Amino acid sequence: MLQVEGVGKRYGSDEAAVVALSDVSLTVGDGEFVALVGPSGCGKTTLLNLIAGLDDADGGRIVVDGETPTAEERLTRFGYMPQEDMLFPWRSVLENVSLGLEIQGIGKREARERAAELFPQFGLSGFEHRRPHELSGGMRQRASFLRTYLLGRPFLLLDEPFGALDAITRGQLQSWLAETWNRVGGSALLVTHDPHEAVALSDRVYVMSARPGRITNVLEVDMPRPRTARAAETEAAHRLIDYLRHETEAEEVTA
Ligand code: ADP
Ligand code: MG
Repeated sequence: MLQVEGVGKRYGSDEAAVVALSDVSLTVGDGEFVALVGPSGCGKTTLLNLIAGLDDADGGRIVVDGETPTAEERLTRFGYMPQEDMLFPWRSVLENVSLGLEIQGIGKREARERAAELFPQFGLSGFEHRRPHELSGGMRQRASFLRTYLLGRPFLLLDEPFGALDAITRGQLQSWLAETWNRVGGSALLVTHDPHEAVALSDRVYVMSARPGRITNVLEVDMPRPRTARAAETEAAHRLIDYLRHETEAEEVTA
């Protein structure tokens, strides 16, 4: 269980300082899938970096399973898929994807076998030995997602994971994630621009305002998971999607 309590973050210290987050609180219970939506630049990536342990908050607390681990301790708690794919250009796709497992101490050969098995599922068959620059943006995003998934951590932090994908591939990966994550009982915090994605996947949606990022609204998505594509087409789902679209568009205008 993750509890973010009154977290703030500013970049810089002089009058040019940017207050990226102000008094942000949210909760992701065990087995919950939670979405975070908000306009560009409102601090979503900053928040995930803080939770993942890549940076320190200026105030507030990040509580994980009842404890307050340091940033360094948090580095090993979450499966973090950053917004930028961070694939090493000199390594093949397979070598990139299996790297996380190797760092965890799993032998090179086993790590690559385990990674290779999932290439078809992630639409990457035949690209095992290519370099990242030979892949489309969508394929790189899938490789980055596969690398994160392979870490086997029960809590995913996903920063706009499907944004570069075409609609069909996005739908397929969303369904796969929803189904898989529900089966293993994993938790997730998903940052997305897409109200439809938030409603299709999550139990709860937090809405953030433009800078300084604050939580301005929380919506419960009261439908059983995993949801079929059709569940997101119901009247109730449409109302939520329209509402979120309206909220985030209103924010973009004033941002
Ligand atoms: P989002 O992911 O919602 O688009 P970010 O968390 O990336 O927003 O950024 C929030 C704000 O903080 C933006 O104004 C951005 O320019 C600023 N910012 C992000 N990272 C840094 C940094 N390392 N140094 C200075 N400013 C930053
Ligand atoms: Mg971002």
